[in-house]
Amino acid sequence: MKHKIYCEVCRVSFIYNGEPEVGNKVVCTVCGAELEILETVPEVKASRFAQEPEVEMRNRAENYARLRGYTFNEDKELVMEGLIEKNRLFGDFYCPCRFENIPENVCPCLPTRMNDVRKYGKCY
Ligand SMILES: [Zn+2]
Repeated sequence: MKHKIYCEVCRVSFIYNGEPEVGNKVVCTVCGAELEILETVPEVKASRFAQEPEVEMRNRAENYARLRGYTFNEDKELVMEGLIEKNRLFGDFYCPCRFENIPENVCPCLPTRMNDVRKYGKCY
């Protein structure tokens, strides 16, 4: 059965095909974030799956790349370190290549979610 689940990371809903169960982990198909199902009635609610920040960001990036069929470039480790540092300083994984720490710049940033990689061959 199809369920709509709101992702608090990228702030949109995605369609989940399957039987959600409380406590199960699901991956947001829009941003790759790992979410934990909190309740299923009357609707499916999920929140960020609790894990170490570094593990969370690496899993999200790996999931996102796999979902979109993208590969990482040689700057992957540099960007990962920047994301983890931004999370430590500012409370979320804001893109280290972008100046503003706003929700639209949480990795994967809005332009990337809107297909910038297809258009320009790489993310910002
Ligand atoms: Zn998401």
